[in-house]
Amino acid sequence: MSTARPRPSFPAKLGKTTAKASSAAAHLSSAKQLLKPAAHRLGKTDTPVQLQVQVEGLGLDSQAVRHKMVLKLKEQGITDPRVILAMSRIERHRFLDSALVNQAYEDTSLPIGFGQTISKPGVVSRMMELLLQAPSMIKKSSTQGQTKLGRILEIGTGCGYQAALLGQIASEVYSMERVRGLHDKARENLRPLSLPNVHLLLGDGMVGYPKGAPYAAIISAAGGDALPQAWLDQLALHGRLVAPMVAHGTQQALLVVDHMPQGFVHTVLEAVHFVPLKSGLA
Ligand code: SAH
Repeated sequence: MSTARPRPSFPAKLGKTTAKASSAAAHLSSAKQLLKPAAHRLGKTDTPVQLQVQVEGLGLDSQAVRHKMVLKLKEQGITDPRVILAMSRIERHRFLDSALVNQAYEDTSLPIGFGQTISKPGVVSRMMELLLQAPSMIKKSSTQGQTKLGRILEIGTGCGYQAALLGQIASEVYSMERVRGLHDKARENLRPLSLPNVHLLLGDGMVGYPKGAPYAAIISAAGGDALPQAWLDQLALHGRLVAPMVAHGTQQALLVVDHMPQGFVHTVLEAVHFVPLKSGLA
């Protein structure tokens, strides 16, 4: 990564923080707060003065580009307002290296280092929509008007983008990553967002995280040949698991498993392309 070039950041449209800021000075100081992790990655050449110029001189508006991305997601058939809101709120460009920022809102997977990729917004939204249609949610919505999932487990934190999104649609998120470098990167990416309900864990997701079980939903961002038994063991009754799995020969497909009183109900959906699920730590 180049250290000399300033991060071609979108403007500091800071969501909650910006809304609260009542003056330009407050806006600038909170913007600088959020740019801190990026500045850290860029190295010592970025002085606070340069950062200030960067924040004040920003011409692009990430919210507008994100809005376009969301419109495309709707065209692709995403309708759940909770998913739409999460995709509108979480700034994907903050999870990418500077050189890739201008592609952040395209429906494409992008490298995040360590041979891994951030998933496509289209697939992430689709999987979240499937999670929200878990049997538990359908049961609850008719009786209690519940709008969020309960505790969920994510396998494959990667850069933390999906974990942040899941934090918008679930009460608690436990997200596991086997690559220490990515676990650390995700921690750094998520820090400025202050999401107290998102918990990052370094560990082999194939064994799940029994301490947090049972989970209302389990989602995997990496695809294996077979479902780990631990995931089924840790899925709550009326819970739903969504994961890419090899379905026909070598072809990966999205697999949905619902934990019903009569047993686990498997449904194989469309073909997908995810990085492989691997065991152990890296
Ligand atoms: N949701 C991520 C996508 C990351 S790609 C994002 O938004 O960036 C999938 C991730 O799964 C990779 O980071 C890979 O290291 C991780 N992974 C693969 N097998 C794993 C395992 N057994 N346990 C935990 N993480 C795993």
